[in-house]
Parts: sequence; C-alpha cells; structure tokens
Amino acid sequence: MPEVLFPLDSTKPFTEQEKTGHNRWHPDIPPVAAVKPGDSFRAEVREWFDGAIKNDDSAEDIRDAPLKGVHCLSGPFAVEGAQPGDLLVVDILDIGPIPQEEGPLAGQGWGYTGVFPKNNGGGFLTDQFPDAYKAIWDFSGQTASSRHIPGVSYTGMVHPGLMGTAPSPELLATWNKREGDLIATDPQRIPPLALPPEPDQAILGNVAAEQFDRVAGEAARTAPPRENGGNQDIKNLTKGSRVFYPVFVEGGHLSVGDLHFSQGDGEITFCGAIEMGGYIDLHVDIIKGGMQTYGVSENAIFMPGRTDPQYSEWLAFSGTSVTLEGEQKYLDSQLAYQRAILHAIDYLTTFGYTPEQAYLLLGAAPIEGRFSGVVDIPNSCATVYIPTEIFDFDPRPSAEGPTQISGGVPVPRAANPAL
Ligand code: ZN
Repeated sequence: MPEVLFPLDSTKPFTEQEKTGHNRWHPDIPPVAAVKPGDSFRAEVREWFDGAIKNDDSAEDIRDAPLKGVHCLSGPFAVEGAQPGDLLVVDILDIGPIPQEEGPLAGQGWGYTGVFPKNNGGGFLTDQFPDAYKAIWDFSGQTASSRHIPGVSYTGMVHPGLMGTAPSPELLATWNKREGDLIATDPQRIPPLALPPEPDQAILGNVAAEQFDRVAGEAARTAPPRENGGNQDIKNLTKGSRVFYPVFVEGGHLSVGDLHFSQGDGEITFCGAIEMGGYIDLHVDIIKGGMQTYGVSENAIFMPGRTDPQYSEWLAFSGTSVTLEGEQKYLDSQLAYQRAILHAIDYLTTFGYTPEQAYLLLGAAPIEGRFSGVVDIPNSCATVYIPTEIFDFDPRPSAEGPTQISGGVPVPRAANPAL
C-alpha cells in the first residue's frame, strides 16, 4: 500500500482531521504534502457532504443538504518541478470505498443517490422532479443493490467525480468574471445559473488566518467542471485510468474528492452517482511543456481504465429536441437527452417502478449516454443505453407484457391479479 499522505479519521468531521483539506479552488491554498514525479501515494477521501446524509429511509437530509460546504477535497498535493505549461500525468492505481465495512459514513459498506429539490440544487429533470428523494445502496464486493429500488443490482464503476489542479490567479479571475456575468443575466433564478464565491462554510486548508477573508471572497466553488478538470463526473475514470491535467501554478496542486461507487452518464439527478467516501491511490509524473507540445491550452485529456462492467446487451431510448409541450427547438442536445431519459423513465414505470425510483436508478446505474446526431436540423438526437443484465427480470418488450415489481419481487404480469 502506498504511503497515506492524506489520512482521514471516520469518527471526526472534515475540519478536525490531522490534515485540513479544502472545498474551494484557489491558488493560495497551500499544499498538504509534496511528492516527486514517479511517486505513488494514497489519499483518503471524505464523501462530498462530510457525513450529512444518513443511511435511513428519509430524504429530509437531501432536502436540507448543506450545499455551501461541498466538495470536501483531499489535497492539494504539490508535485516537485511541475510548472505552468506542463502536463501533470495522474494514474489511478486503485480506488475503493472506506475499507472497514459497517459504519455511519457513506462509504462504510453503503452509499447514496439523491434527487435534489428545485430550491436546493435541482437536477437534470428538476421541472418534472421538484422534490427531494433518496436511495441507499448497499455494497457487496463490486455489486450495488438498494432496498429502495427492488429488482436491480449492478457492478460499480468506482471513480473520482472530482479531480484537478489549482487555477492560476488569472484563470481564477477569468472564472469569476464569466460566471458572474452569467449570474447577472438572471440573478433571482431558482436554481441559480452559477455559484459565485461563497465565504460561508469555506474550508481553505492551511491558508494563513490573515489571508482567509481575501481568499474566501475570491475562491471558486467546486461544483462546475472547468479548465483544471474539477467536477467532471466522468464515470469512466476507473482504476487504471490515466489523466493529463494542465498545470497552471508551480507544483500543479492536485486535489481529489467526490468518490462514486457507480454513476450513469450525465449524473442526472445532480447527486446522481452512488456517493461515498473511500481511498484513492495515485501515481504522478510530469510532461515538461506538455500543454504546448500536445496542443492542450485548457481542459484535461484522459485514457479511461479497462475495468468497466462486462455488460453486452442494452435497451436504448432516444429523444429529440422537442419540448414536452411540443415546441420545436433547434439542435438542443441537452433537451434531447432529457427527453431520452424521460422516455426511459416512462418505460420503467410500466414494470411497477415509481418515476422517482426510475430516475434514481438511471442516475446511479452504469447507463451510457450519447449524442447520436447533432446536425440534422432541427432535431438533435440523444440516446441512453440501459444494460439489460442489471435487472432480476427480463426488461425487454414482449407480447406477455412487462414483469411487475410487486412487493419488491418481480412477478409475471399475467400472475398479478391487480392488472
Ligand atoms: Zn458526487
């Protein structure tokens, strides 16, 4: 096992640990440790809400989730010799949930998926699902199943939702300017268009006390993905992945957090993955001047890992850029993906799932999302692929009609007297 450079004690909150992490991006957050090119190390990672979400049957914790406190990030780690213009090569050697099994923290044998309410985060289908919902998933080895969504289990694709390098002062100013300009177009919108710097609940590592207010007032929120990587929520960053991050500050200042046991493409429910705490083992190296050499002016490139689940048969749904009210939009791929997901939800409800169960499942299971056509005016075509093997029953259309999830048990439609 590589040396643990960022240890976490599961019995203590994130702010009372041996080393203090951070929940904002800023170049002045000092590194918690220095590593050399060629080094491997382990970071323990807290789930993104620092224990606010409980293993129970109520969604009140999701409804009231403390969004200003996310994400709890481990780091920054300085890589000796890394300079602006280099590419930081990060290999994910290993990743998994908190090693001890049962406990109250997500990652201790379980994780959660949440649908966030419209007035506290929202989600991809927030107009159709404006309230809070939650599913708890139990882990058995690589497999996830849920008492809240019967008749389904699947192999996780464990990955970090969030990893990235620190922005330079200039890049941070660019973020704040462009996101502030967007917010100004509709400052009262719910959910908001973007999240400005927020000193309340900011955790800034070992920033000196006299610097804290300035840094907290400038530091970027961690919710969006940006040029530095960040909260990209790429489900394919599994064990064995290699990521090439642009370096914007001396040492690169790599941070990681928001581990997911599994996630569907798009992380559609907002907290759409199976959220958990755990560990990640990283190996780092540098390509000097790699940004110019490879034409990377911004944004990470990556080679996904090779440990995807071996699902071979899929049931797919499509959508186009026409609103639910029938209005024609022009090549709107976001809308087309929403319509594809809504079609999948409609289908799954014929098996006895509630729309909320279907939505939670599509957020967390290893579904594939694709932009299938983006040029055929006026309609984009987006598609979503569900692996058929994740169900305990045959989910394909047939002359017999859909098997029914009845009392948690799949039964043939013909055997259900209620139908
Ligand atoms: Zn997450």
